[in-house]
Amino acid sequence: HRDVHRLYDVLDAAAQEAPEAPALSVDGTTWTFQELRARTDALSAHLSGRCSPGARVALLAHNRLEYVAAYYGVPRDGRILVPLNQRLHPREWADQVVRSGAELVVGEPDLLERLEREGGLPAGHPPLVDVADLPWDGPAPSREDDRDPAEVAWLMFTSGTTGRPKGVRLTHRSLLAGVAVTASGRPVLPDDVFCTPFPLCHVAGYQVILHHLFRRHAVVLRRFDPAVLVDAARRHGVTNLSLAPTMLEDLLAHLDGDPAALGALRATVRVVAYGSAPMPVPLLRRADAVLGCDLNQGYGMTELSGNATFLSPADHRAAVAARPELAASAGRPGDGAEIAVVGEDGAPLPPGEQGEVVVRGAQVADGYWDDPEATAEAFAGGWFRTGDAGRVDGDGRLYLADRIKDVIITGGENVSSREVEDVLRTVPGVGEVAVVGLPDPRWGQSVCAVIVPDGVPPREEDLVAACRARLAGFKAPRRVEFVAALPRTGTGKVRKAALRAELTGRPS
Ligand code: ATP
Ligand code: MG
Repeated sequence: HRDVHRLYDVLDAAAQEAPEAPALSVDGTTWTFQELRARTDALSAHLSGRCSPGARVALLAHNRLEYVAAYYGVPRDGRILVPLNQRLHPREWADQVVRSGAELVVGEPDLLERLEREGGLPAGHPPLVDVADLPWDGPAPSREDDRDPAEVAWLMFTSGTTGRPKGVRLTHRSLLAGVAVTASGRPVLPDDVFCTPFPLCHVAGYQVILHHLFRRHAVVLRRFDPAVLVDAARRHGVTNLSLAPTMLEDLLAHLDGDPAALGALRATVRVVAYGSAPMPVPLLRRADAVLGCDLNQGYGMTELSGNATFLSPADHRAAVAARPELAASAGRPGDGAEIAVVGEDGAPLPPGEQGEVVVRGAQVADGYWDDPEATAEAFAGGWFRTGDAGRVDGDGRLYLADRIKDVIITGGENVSSREVEDVLRTVPGVGEVAVVGLPDPRWGQSVCAVIVPDGVPPREEDLVAACRARLAGFKAPRRVEFVAALPRTGTGKVRKAALRAELTGRPS
């Protein structure tokens, strides 16, 4: 490959070497690399005439072809793409428009209308422009070739699972490094066709760029739907599927009743890559049994421009065959990523001891947008503090315990919410489960289990008994709540801060 230093270089090289090859499909329409580059060039030419250098351009849209043109085209000549999560409340969109200082908001008309009506945008807000009204073809502008790879390309907000979303400064360099780390942990093969239903506003979208680096076809779903996914897989011969655990669960449920769909998937899919939230081990076993393909887990986050560690297909096979403990691991770092576990004082801990997971490498972002304090706290000394608790075993495999903010401290003892959830999930009648700590006058916090029943709701005493049979007594829930649904982010993560606020009647 030619030298690739900036995002646009990936597309430019692919369009030169494989102009007619399919680059991107959404909803049955396909653009070749040449077409994608032409749209990208048209967008950047338009923005050059309209926005100041370094301007932030917010994008409020569902997955669509132009989204990927914006991935490359907004930063092509030095502007910064701010993808807004279409699942957020209009007030949250407005907040991110204001915080990013966007000069322009491009979007789909229905979403822009909600932003205008319900967002409470301040007077003098930036213009809101229908994405379909931008010129998508036109002469390619000459390119300023001196763009610094350390420039911010995307200002992407974190999922907001633990609080207010943080704006992350993703540079050309960090994004391309994230791509390189993933290429080592999740190799791309010559005939691969990649498919993702993840919202492109999420950092999972960098995988589209990974596949373009290898001139492979990326199929993006407008939104996750098992039937649409099966159809896309059949139509495009999808080999690589990228899913969140909740999506995998829905997909398996769909396939249960549709053997023809299952046959179609099994005919082409060689690997299912999953990540973004903890994977329940029983679900993993079912996926292995039903799909019969390779599984590859990635662990990463917005601040790492993608994934840093990978649980390989070989480790998955070993887990199913003889080493079940491996199924609970998030695997080993890809080439170029370094992980360590540190104590509260920041000093490294020996293998086996639990502390905060920290990551180092070129994929680490350039800090948070306009927030020197939070940046200093999390990005000190080259190591990024993930906020995730975990340990590393003697073979360098990472085991995540919980988010540090979700660890429950009850009577001075630490309880991993994830560990209790894993036990509760085995009780008949439990559909989904989230365990959170609630304020308790006696214990500091107490363990509360929130259950979405599947059929007949389980009895509280059976839930407690299941925990007592496998865990220390203080880990068993003191309170059980039944709800119709858990609050989740767009990628299926349980928003525990919101859940705690609901249960205590306090704002999160
Ligand atoms: P916020 O930072 O705003 O609270 P967020 O951390 O959910 O939101 P993302 O950057 O989208 O925002 O997600 C990264 C987090 O997702 C990780 O820190 C980790 O807690 C979780 N995660 C990602 N991959 C995995 C995985 N394979 N297993 C378990 N958890 C994962
Ligand atoms: Mg986070």
